[in-house]
Amino acid sequence: MQHVDAYEEALLLQIMNSGRSAMGIGSGAAKATYALTHGLTELEFKYGIYIGRELYSIISRSNSLAYKVNPLLALQDFFGNLDYQLVYAEENGKPAVKAYGKAIGLGFKAHNFEAGMLSGYISLAEKKMLIFNEDRCIENGSDYCMFIASGHLPDSNAAISTQQFIEKAIKGKIAGNAYYSHLLWQPLLSLQYSNGISKLMGNMGIEAAILEKKGKRLEDIIRLLNFGSLKIKSVRPFSATLEFDSCAKEAFANMALAFIDGFLGKKRIYAIATKKSNGINYVFSLKGMKGRK
Ligand SMILES: [Zn+2]
Repeated sequence: MQHVDAYEEALLLQIMNSGRSAMGIGSGAAKATYALTHGLTELEFKYGIYIGRELYSIISRSNSLAYKVNPLLALQDFFGNLDYQLVYAEENGKPAVKAYGKAIGLGFKAHNFEAGMLSGYISLAEKKMLIFNEDRCIENGSDYCMFIASGHLPDSNAAISTQQFIEKAIKGKIAGNAYYSHLLWQPLLSLQYSNGISKLMGNMGIEAAILEKKGKRLEDIIRLLNFGSLKIKSVRPFSATLEFDSCAKEAFANMALAFIDGFLGKKRIYAIATKKSNGINYVFSLKGMKGRK
């Protein structure tokens, strides 16, 4: 039995057990971050393989007879809970998977993590190496995503600018499933990347503040990015609470705070973390010394 990371396993179980949800795979912010460089796109795909193998390991230990007989059903149920409907197919004699879901309109093939998950999971289920590559994507104008076991590594997305990033990330009205969002961010929040990602999010916050003149409010933007639940009490001086579910890690909270800091014009917000009386959710009290300009 392969090693299973407890945090990732908890997130996978949350999604498995949560039932069908209208909160889709969305997660435009994480997707757009992975699209920033070719190296990040590769990381996204390889991490997907790892998570696909983890999910298979969880399923193979479950008590469900239906899943034991047909593990591919469990993969359909997992993505079905994220409103992403998998259909097993063939294309030019090669194994393929179609997936139907709601698109944000990111404008690029966005599902390299999912291609990795299919590769990792289905390879174990079918007991042969299958590397799926996303050929068509709902985020790039197709009616469905098409993953083909071509054996090729994913095409790297063209690098996008920070302004394009934030436009794409907040474009849709779909916030996506929060647990899935945590799962996607996980490798980017490792010690190796977390500082860089926080700096990046600070710049994204600045970009978002410029776009906010077009009508989006900070509370909405934070919700669309899956960066917790922000409630602004006062604008001048800035005072707000930012609440996270119990699965949010400190590095994730720091990333969200860096974004808000950038949005507010680097006025240096002070964040004090407290736990709600139920002991489950984290709540940050945010105070700005000078308020928004
Ligand atoms: Zn896609």
